[in-house]
Amino acid sequence: MAEKIGLQSLIHRSVRNMGAGIHSVVKESAIEMIKQAYKEGIFVQITSGYRSFAEQNKLYAQGRTAPGKIVTNAKGGQSNHNYGLAIDYVLLSADGKKALWTVNKKWRRVAQIGKSLGFSWGGDWKSFKDYPHLEMMGGLTLSQLQAGKRPFLVSFLSNEVSAKQIKTVSGEKLLARGSIKTKSIITSKKSYTLPSGILKVTKPLTKGSQVTAVQKALSSLYFYPDKGAKNNGIDGYYGPKTANAVKRFQLMNGLTADGIYGPKTKSKIEQLLKK
Ligand SMILES: [Zn+2]
Repeated sequence: MAEKIGLQSLIHRSVRNMGAGIHSVVKESAIEMIKQAYKEGIFVQITSGYRSFAEQNKLYAQGRTAPGKIVTNAKGGQSNHNYGLAIDYVLLSADGKKALWTVNKKWRRVAQIGKSLGFSWGGDWKSFKDYPHLEMMGGLTLSQLQAGKRPFLVSFLSNEVSAKQIKTVSGEKLLARGSIKTKSIITSKKSYTLPSGILKVTKPLTKGSQVTAVQKALSSLYFYPDKGAKNNGIDGYYGPKTANAVKRFQLMNGLTADGIYGPKTKSKIEQLLKK
């Protein structure tokens, strides 16, 4: 029997194929997707990621002014790949030597893992289905990207906002400008009855259904009190982890990041849940 391809080889090939222009959150999430699929005995490789405008134009020419079959309808600047926000994947045989293009249960499972990490899947598109395609648009449209706007993506993998991200936000006033959304990471749209008062870390800790509502609402926006813990840390106590989730939420939404829940945080949460 042929030897099974190693996880590191899959990651190595995928990183190479994604190119240097890939968004770091897209890249990190793609690697995580490969890892999770591998654990389930699914061998997935990223075949494409960032493409420069020139590369896209070359691809567009194929089957038109250049030999080959038509593979894309997008010219340079018209594909989400041109902004480092999209990837394409394929399944491989266990030995890693053959690409398997059949959209089967395993293929869909990879898409599902991708979606759990914040990707949108081309297989869910209504008009035209692009099964290998995953993207993170950060709530922006292609025309907004073309106009120079860039999304502020938040990785689902890090519970804590890194110092570097904080610096970017305050340094460039991305969120204050109001042009950047974190909408891409919002998938569920439930409504929660949020308290109108102030919630902060107290001694003893404030607890109750009001805190639970805030925790649930934040979690549905992917700001978990404690990702990976039981119930993602939704326990009804306004402790340091919940304050941290509030802080991360505030930071990403142009609010004073003090970890104290109040009217401004409330209305911002409500606004995002409505979208
Ligand atoms: Zn694609």
